[in-house]
Amino acid sequence: MRFIADGMLGKLTRWLRILGQDVKYSNKLDDAALVVAAKKERRILLTRDFELYRQGVAKGIDAFYVEGETGEEKLADIARRFNIDLNVDMATSRCPKCNSKVTQISKDKVAAKVGKSTFDHYEEFWACRKCAQIYWQGAHWKGIRRKLERTKALKTIEEGTN
Ligand SMILES: [Zn+2]
Repeated sequence: MRFIADGMLGKLTRWLRILGQDVKYSNKLDDAALVVAAKKERRILLTRDFELYRQGVAKGIDAFYVEGETGEEKLADIARRFNIDLNVDMATSRCPKCNSKVTQISKDKVAAKVGKSTFDHYEEFWACRKCAQIYWQGAHWKGIRRKLERTKALKTIEEGTN
C-alpha cells in the first residue's frame, strides 16, 4: 500500500511517514500531475479536494477523500479506512522529510551531528538513508505519543458509530 498526498496534506504526510507509510508528497504537483503519478506508480491518492477525488476516481485510480478538521481527525480517518497501526515502530518508520527508510545507527556516529545535551541524554539514534537527517526520541516524543493516543481514541469512537 503506497500513497500520494495532495499539496494540502503536508502535515498528514509527515505523520503517515513516521508511522511507516510510503507517502509521496510535493506541493508542486498540480491536480493532473497527481493523478498521473498515482496511476503510474500505483499509489492511492489522498486528497482534501472533492473535485480532485472525483477526477481521480473517474480516471480509474484509488482515491480517498480525507475528512476531519484537526490533524488527529484526518489521521484517524485514514487509519480507519486503511487499517493503519497508530504505534510508531522505528524499524519500519520513514523519514518525515523525504519518505526514505530510517536505520538505527550507533551512538558514536552521531557525536558530531547532534548537540551535546542530546548526545548525553539519549542512547538510540536513527538516520535517514537518503537525506541523512538524524532522529532520536527526544522531548518532542511525548507530544507525538499523546497525539497518537488521541488519534487512536478518535479512530475507535468512529468505528463504534458505523
Ligand atoms: Zn530523509
